[in-house]
Amino acid sequence: MPARIAVNGFGTIGKRVARAVKLQDDMELVGVTKTRPTYEASIANREGMPLYTLDEKQMKVMEEQGFRVEGVLQDLLTKVDLVVDCSPNGVGEENKKLYEEAGVKAIFQGGEEHGIAGLSFNAFSSYDLAQGRKWARVVSCNTTGLIRTLYPLDRMFKVEEAFAAIVRRGADPAEAKGSALNAVEPSLHLPTHHGTDVRTVLPGLNISTMAVKVPTTNMHVHCIHAKLRKKGVKTSDVLSLWDQMPRIRFVSGKHGIRTSGQIMEIARDLGRHSGDFAETIVWEDGTHIDGESLYYYQAVHQESDVIPENIDCIRSMMEMEKDASRSIRKTDRSLGIGK
Ligand code: NAD
Repeated sequence: MPARIAVNGFGTIGKRVARAVKLQDDMELVGVTKTRPTYEASIANREGMPLYTLDEKQMKVMEEQGFRVEGVLQDLLTKVDLVVDCSPNGVGEENKKLYEEAGVKAIFQGGEEHGIAGLSFNAFSSYDLAQGRKWARVVSCNTTGLIRTLYPLDRMFKVEEAFAAIVRRGADPAEAKGSALNAVEPSLHLPTHHGTDVRTVLPGLNISTMAVKVPTTNMHVHCIHAKLRKKGVKTSDVLSLWDQMPRIRFVSGKHGIRTSGQIMEIARDLGRHSGDFAETIVWEDGTHIDGESLYYYQAVHQESDVIPENIDCIRSMMEMEKDASRSIRKTDRSLGIGK
């Protein structure tokens, strides 16, 4: 029987998770919630995703505007095994009480603290730990991107220490808030929380981070230095290690790909849904080893890299697949992710 899934919060991440769930042959999207009668509510109606609101008042407003609404969140929670909470930062803690009452499992997103679930998830490293769990938190887009490349490096060559300077997109493309229009804003809480967040998944990794926010909406770019314990590692060894990993994809300045904007153009040319690029994108010719120091640049599409992670997390928590690689392959095939 397919796992019965709800998505609570149908914004940037929620609508993508909902679409991804619909593409799985072992999951059923039972419903999504929307608070207001925005165009996203019409996407849910149009794409056949049963629509729910948080309360009766919202339901009345939606119905008055002509939307088809099936009920409220409490109704939805009686019909599902697991809810993917995609509500705004910090709201998950309040929602958790509702999930507890309804006796459903829940996945929270990176805007929540690690403590909300006690397990922070990345498919490469945490799949086994999530088996059968009631709560998990899929880490943020930046943290996911950092783990994707650092986890295999650490396993193969042992990372003595790592430092990442994170160039953060100012806002998501559809947002009217975010960074200053013409300024670079350093994060003044140092080291930034991104390194700490990586350690919620990889506690043994010695990583620190700094970050600046810039006026672009495309992607985040990470400038990473990793000191490797293993001697004699060549750039080609690192590239061939990453090449064997799913969800890491190379681009090259030699082939004209020098900017995050050009990477997003590739996603559109590949016909990816919503122009998304869920892989972590590494510049092949922006990767260089000098002695024990590895330097590399990578780009992260903030709106989509966590989506396949949510799908694998569901599969592990619902104990539908014991093997991480098999789940990752199944997810990636269904979402059209691959090299
Ligand atoms: P968003 O603002 O685009 O969407 C949030 C949705 O939740 C909206 O539709 C809003 O109406 C709805 N909502 C508001 N209050 C709610 C409530 N009480 N219960 C349920 N839904 C409610 O936010 P987002 O960018 O999709 O972020 C969601 C989560 O995903 C956050 O934890 C965020 O940190 C994380 N995340 C975001 C990104 C990104 O780049 N946008 C990337 C990775 C992770």
